[in-house]
Amino acid sequence: MNAISDCPLCSRPLPEKPSKHHLIPKTFKGKEIVLLHRVCHRQIHANFTERELLNYCHTIDRLLENENIQNFVRWVKNKPPNFHVRTRNTASKRVKS
Ligand SMILES: [Zn+2]
Ligand SMILES: [Zn+2]
Repeated sequence: MNAISDCPLCSRPLPEKPSKHHLIPKTFKGKEIVLLHRVCHRQIHANFTERELLNYCHTIDRLLENENIQNFVRWVKNKPPNFHVRTRNTASKRVKS
């Protein structure tokens, strides 16, 4: 196990239970995993389809080339390290999946 360090996407320290992202989607038998914040992970999948991840965005550098990701990183960097998107129980029914 690697020691928990900083998030490769936003460079903030990772929480105790970071989210795991497959650089190449599991669907395509990807094995390499990076640890990210939940919000950062969600941002990746909000911006790229699995095919885009497979074909191009399978490195952190390439993910960071994306303008939406850059805007997100700029935004999230100003948040405290333990920042997470508030998830209230009452909001859960509005979650789309
Ligand atoms: Zn992050
Ligand atoms: Zn992922």
